[in-house]
Amino acid sequence: MTSIIKDILERESYSKEEILRLLKCEGEERTLLFTKSAEIKEKYIGRKVWFRGLIEFSNICGKDCLYCGIRKGNKDLHRYNLSDDEILEAARFAYINRYGSIALQSGELESPFVTDRIENLLHRIKVMSNGELGITLSVGEQEPDVYRRWFEAGAHRYLLRVESTNKELYSKIHPNDDKHSFTRRLECLKILQDTGYQTGTGVMIGLPFQTTDDLADDLLFMREFDIDMCGMGPYIEHADTPLIKYSGELMPLRQRFDLTLKMIAVIRLMMKDINIVAATALQAIDPIGREKAVKIGANIVMPNITPGKYRDSYKLYDNKPCTDDSAEDCQSCLEARISLADAEIIYGEWGDSAHYNTRRKKV
Ligand code: SAM
Repeated sequence: MTSIIKDILERESYSKEEILRLLKCEGEERTLLFTKSAEIKEKYIGRKVWFRGLIEFSNICGKDCLYCGIRKGNKDLHRYNLSDDEILEAARFAYINRYGSIALQSGELESPFVTDRIENLLHRIKVMSNGELGITLSVGEQEPDVYRRWFEAGAHRYLLRVESTNKELYSKIHPNDDKHSFTRRLECLKILQDTGYQTGTGVMIGLPFQTTDDLADDLLFMREFDIDMCGMGPYIEHADTPLIKYSGELMPLRQRFDLTLKMIAVIRLMMKDINIVAATALQAIDPIGREKAVKIGANIVMPNITPGKYRDSYKLYDNKPCTDDSAEDCQSCLEARISLADAEIIYGEWGDSAHYNTRRKKV
């Protein structure tokens, strides 16, 4: 049987059936998959890992996604919004510690105030760091003009998870209204790409109603769309969300974890030079989950540098790790962990997606 997997792993591109076969492999076949994805990562990226200092600057959200702990409808949550100075301070921490890049993430809000505020912050972070800090944004769906203004102000990467590329599944995990339109999510991704961002997307793995077939389609979508960055993680229940009622029907957490590793390995094989994040949610299931992801294909880690007192309130799912740590704790802990994964943290570099550079040259 292993000869079939060996055969698939030798190919340059995979059919849907082959992807499904890879996602379902176990035992010796699974080892072959992970060995190959590690090999490809080493060949195209090296044993390198870049940091994106993650600043979760606000948990105020206008959306009501049925899986998410910071959804608007969750009244059982302290809402916070960091001051501009607190955000600048966190960015300065990243700069001084030579993280290379930061990622600004928040709940999803669209308003002229939010647009101006983020634009202004981007300018200030660029000035503070002499233009040296790379900036990723992850603040959801916005109008084309807003994306353009932020790009011109210095953000050059944007992460917008599509969550699932199956429209029917998407409608089961979101309210069915204009605010949660699948079509708009896809349009936003396209606009981000056209604006010039290094564009990242991804899905949650192990969602209620999700099948392996859906996941294979998700991977094909990412290849077809020609993404530059990928951020995928296991779905983890949050007690105060509507989807909690399906908890008993889900695959065990351990299996969701394993399937996420396989998704990362397969996308690394399909898109050899993209940036792949080792998602924090992996660590909520396995204490060395992110390191395992780095070993088999991921090359980006996002140490949390949000001021400690706010972390407990950015609970997207239950048992979110590191909410009691300080930014300094995160750094020393991660250094030890990454070296265990036989990888090296590259300080003071942006660590841009090589795929992006190749893609732009073709335009
Ligand atoms: N609102 C922005 C957006 O949608 O792009 C960024 C913030 S949002 C909270 C960041 C990501 O958290 C989502 O894209 C989603 O995939 C993930 N997330 C939310 N709830 C989750 C859960 N219960 N388990 C795992 N990941 C979750």
